Amino acid sequence: MLQGKTALVTGSTSGIGLGIAKALAKQGANIVLNGFGDAEGPKAEIAALGVQVAYHGADMSKAGEIEAMMKFAADTFGRVDILVNNAGIQHVAKIEDFPVERWDAIIAINLSSAFHATRLALPAMKAANWGRIINIASIHGLVGSAEKSAYVAAKHGVVGLTKVTALENATTGVTCNAICPGWVLTPLVQKQVDAKAAAMGLSNEEAKKVLLQEKEPSMQFTTPEELGELAVFFCSAAGNNVRGVAWNMDGGWTAQ
Ligand code: NAD
Repeated sequence: MLQGKTALVTGSTSGIGLGIAKALAKQGANIVLNGFGDAEGPKAEIAALGVQVAYHGADMSKAGEIEAMMKFAADTFGRVDILVNNAGIQHVAKIEDFPVERWDAIIAINLSSAFHATRLALPAMKAANWGRIINIASIHGLVGSAEKSAYVAAKHGVVGLTKVTALENATTGVTCNAICPGWVLTPLVQKQVDAKAAAMGLSNEEAKKVLLQEKEPSMQFTTPEELGELAVFFCSAAGNNVRGVAWNMDGGWTAQ
């Protein structure tokens, strides 16, 4: 379905980003990976799906590096047809204790990076009259949780940015939508499981149950593979007129 298209997924060396990159690659899209940590393993996994894959290690907190990454993607594959703004970090603390440097980093990586990548991707998408921008927000783009001020503020911002991007391009073949996952068991969430296990003297399995019980009636984690399939839907012809939505996959978190 996506043969000949190129997808750039930020923060795709692990977790949700890698899951989405693999789902798009299975549909035939060439992939530009980004993120920290090991890139060789993810590159090999994508290449095994029979598509071309490249990697750029831009730090998504830096506008200049995002510009270099977008240029690299265009030089390598001609243009970016599908942009998935996924890179993100978390920090948990009460507002009065929140390290200012962590606030700045979360706003830069979780919100401003999506603005930069989007503004740089749009001209070529509009020229081709086809494009898909998929912002990985969070259920925290729709509701709050204590001790996550920067993350919740950034993710609400991402949902707002999604709507404006969709509206500004509503008469074109470029769509923009957000995906709002509940709990997904990635390294980002495992850290929160570890913190709960340590604080409450629980095993890893018990801490996972407590985390789910607090928020998710389904008592199950959403998987990167499931999120990847939703991204594929947004890229399909059936997604042509899906514009500016914030679509939860949250086990009932916000149905309560
Ligand atoms: P993860 O920690 O597994 O992956 C994050 C990715 O971002 C990694 O590839 C990491 O290297 C990269 N990254 C971090 N800082 C970066 C930077 N400065 N520059 C470039 N890359 C950077 O986390 P994840 O759970 O897969 O999170 C992916 C996205 O999904 C995030 O935006 C997160 O907020 C969102 N999300 C996660 C959950 C969840 O439960 N895990 C729920 C809702 C939303």
